[in-house]
Amino acid sequence: MSVQQVLDLIKEKNIEFVDFRFIDLAGRAHHITLPAPEVDAETFVNGVAFDGSSITGFRGIEESDMVMMPDTDSVYVDPFTAHATLIVICNIHTPDGARYERDPRSIAHKAEEYLQTTGVGTTAFFAPESEFFIFDDVRYESTMNSSSFFVDSEEAAWNTNRKEEGGNLGFKIGVKGGYVPVAPVDSQQDIRSEMVRLMQEAGLRVERHHHEVATAGQAEINFRFDTLTTTADNLMKYKYIVHNVARQYGKVATFMPKPLFGDNGSGMHVHSSIFNGSEPLFYEKGAYANLSELALHYIGGILHHAPALIAITNPSTNSFKRLVPGYEAPVNLVYSKGNRSAAVRIPVAAVTPKGCRIEFRTPDSTANPYLAFAAMLMAGLDGIKRKIDPSALGYGPFDTNIYELSDEQKKEIRSVPGTLDEALDALEADSEFLTEGGVFTKEFIENYVNVKRAEAKAVAIRIHPHEYGLYFDC
Ligand code: GLN
Ligand code: MG
Ligand code: MG
Ligand code: MG
Repeated sequence: MSVQQVLDLIKEKNIEFVDFRFIDLAGRAHHITLPAPEVDAETFVNGVAFDGSSITGFRGIEESDMVMMPDTDSVYVDPFTAHATLIVICNIHTPDGARYERDPRSIAHKAEEYLQTTGVGTTAFFAPESEFFIFDDVRYESTMNSSSFFVDSEEAAWNTNRKEEGGNLGFKIGVKGGYVPVAPVDSQQDIRSEMVRLMQEAGLRVERHHHEVATAGQAEINFRFDTLTTTADNLMKYKYIVHNVARQYGKVATFMPKPLFGDNGSGMHVHSSIFNGSEPLFYEKGAYANLSELALHYIGGILHHAPALIAITNPSTNSFKRLVPGYEAPVNLVYSKGNRSAAVRIPVAAVTPKGCRIEFRTPDSTANPYLAFAAMLMAGLDGIKRKIDPSALGYGPFDTNIYELSDEQKKEIRSVPGTLDEALDALEADSEFLTEGGVFTKEFIENYVNVKRAEAKAVAIRIHPHEYGLYFDC
C-alpha cells in the first residue's frame, strides 16, 4: 500500500487515531498513538520517535532516541478500540536514519534479502501453528496459586483438573482428552469463531480452528502461509486478537509453552518451503516423502544446527518443560514423514508439489517470530550450501514410534537441549550460520544471550514451590 492509500484509508474509514507499533526482542508489540489529524505524508518520512532505553534488550540510557518508520503494507483497523484506530507496524531506525540492528524486523528483512543472494531461490514461505490455552480468570488464578505446582503425576493432574471444574464431571475434558470433541465438551467454539471472524476482518486468511489435545481450553487456529516477514506480522496480529477476544469474554489466553504440569503444552510448529519464482523447490515425486535433495539438505541444516537454533525458537525457561517425552512435543532430533515425535515432520497427506513443505515441531510461541523464522531459514540455507545429508549424520528418517525403539537404537538419537542455558551454550558455540551475510550480527547474538541468561538466572535463583514438597521436612 502506498502512503497516499493509507491516508485515503484514514479518511474513508473515519479513522480517529493511528497506532504505531514496533516489536521488541521478546517478540512483544509496543505502541504509541497519534490523533489522525497529526498524521500526514511527513509522518511516513520522518517517523515517530520513542525512547529505546526503556525497552528490555534495546539500547542503553545514553543512546536512547529511536524512530519508528511505518511499513505501509502492514496496516489494519484495530478491532478492539472504542475509537476507530488504524494499526501500523513499524521498522525501527536510529536517529541517523539507519535501520536498528536489534530490530527483529530488520533481521527478518535481511534474511529474506540474503536468500536472494544465495542463488537457491527467491522466496521462503512460512506457516506457524501457534497453540494456546484459554483459561477462566478464576481457574487461571487457581492454577497459578496451587494445584498444578504440586501435582507430581499424570493421574494427580487429571484429578486436579477435574476437581477445578466443580462437582459435575459430565462432559468435562480430562488430561490429554481435548482433541476435537463437539459441544458441550468443547465449550469454546464461539470464542474461537469470534477470534477467527476478527482475524478475517483484519486481513488474515484463516483456514481452520479446533480444540487442541490438552484439557479444557487448549486451542489452535491456522492461517495461511506467506513470506517470512509478512507471516511474522500475521502472527503478531493473531496473538493480539487471541489475547483481546479472550479478555472480552472475561478469560485469559496464554501462549506459554507449558502452563499445566502433566498435560500437553502449547507448541508453534512451523512449516516452511522455498520457491524459485513460482517453482516449488522442495518437491520430487517418488523420492522419500516426495522430498527433493535440496529439501533434505534444508532439513539437514535445521537438525544439525538445532541445539543452537532452539535458543531462538524456544527461548524461555518454560519452553524446556514442554520439550519432554509423552506430550506430542518433539524431543528427538530426527526427521520423519508422519511421525509426530520427530523434530522435523514431512506432512504427506493431501500434499501437492506447491504444498510440499517441512514442519519443524520444536518451536513454541515464546519465540520472537521474526527471529525464529529468520534463524530457521539460515539453518536450512546452511544445510543447502554445505549439502548436509541428514541420513548420513544419523538424523533418520525414522518412521516408527521413536519411544518404542530399542535402547541401542535410542542411544544413537540426539535430543533437544534440556534447558535454556544448554541451548544458549549451543548458540554461543554455533552461531556462524546465523551471521552469514550479516543477517544476525555478532553483537546481536551476544546481547541476546546476555538477556536470556539473565532470565534463566532469575528463574533458577527463586525458590520453586515443588522444593517445599521435596525438602521442607528436613
Ligand atoms: N501440543 C503439541 C505440542 O506441544 C502438539 C499437538 C498437536 O498439534 N498434535 O507440540
Ligand atoms: Mg495443527
Ligand atoms: Mg496442534
Ligand atoms: Mg503440526
